Amino acid sequence: MSLPDDFIFSQSALQDYLDCPRRFELRYIRDIRWPAPETSSAIAYESRQMRGQDFHHLLHQHAAGVDPQALESMLFNNNDDELQGWWENYLKWQSLNLPAIRHPELVLTTPVAGSLLMAKYDIVAKMPDSTFLIVDWKTGKTRKHSFLAERMQTLVYPYVLARSGDWLNDGKSIPPEKIKMLYWFADKAETVELETSAKSLESAEERLISLINVIAGRFEFPLTDEKKLCRFCSFRSLCERGNEPGNFDDYLTEDEPDSSESFNMNLDEIGEISF
Ligand code: SF4
Repeated sequence: MSLPDDFIFSQSALQDYLDCPRRFELRYIRDIRWPAPETSSAIAYESRQMRGQDFHHLLHQHAAGVDPQALESMLFNNNDDELQGWWENYLKWQSLNLPAIRHPELVLTTPVAGSLLMAKYDIVAKMPDSTFLIVDWKTGKTRKHSFLAERMQTLVYPYVLARSGDWLNDGKSIPPEKIKMLYWFADKAETVELETSAKSLESAEERLISLINVIAGRFEFPLTDEKKLCRFCSFRSLCERGNEPGNFDDYLTEDEPDSSESFNMNLDEIGEISF
């Protein structure tokens, strides 16, 4: 089955393709939602997903101007200590590190290789030194710089901002070296920051063109050879890669891929309140 002509690429779709072409086909071309539980403890998994979604929802409301106290009353009713801890970490961090004017839940697109590439940002903020900070809220465990540097999100987000964010910069295109990507991890308020340069943007463009051309020309999408990726994938039984889900404790400690992001929780599907 081939890609529809009007298909819009995203970092999640590209990452899924790199992780497993079959998962990309099932999720984005066939639009299949296979109901298999992704971990051995479906309830714990669902609860973790819900907490991540609630957290992003709270942050979006806060960025949209809702009074923090009104949001806190919702939290206290919720009686969720972990969510409350994330919220307190966020409130403190953002007050010290982000300017008052920010663009939450920003969606930008740019053409690449005859297709559209979309990025959904948690926050883009123009800093006092005129750099543009892309912040992505993460509710998984802190990732190494080297791991995050390889993710499609790190490649796609600065690229799309540089190509289509000129309206944020008085109509002038944003120089690559003025763009920074920051992952913020809720449990300890830790951050991982990645710089952009003209060279990194050029190589991002080459890689995106090549990847999109390859995907657009494919008619078959094979299963990944990396069978460990199947342990927490909901298509496991459909692909005959085992019926038993991976252990939830392993899911929480899995080093790769990011269990809170494209691996299990397709952020595009929840409005890229992304993990
Ligand atoms: S179960 Fe494995 S082969 Fe099938 S879509 Fe998921 S990751 Fe790919």
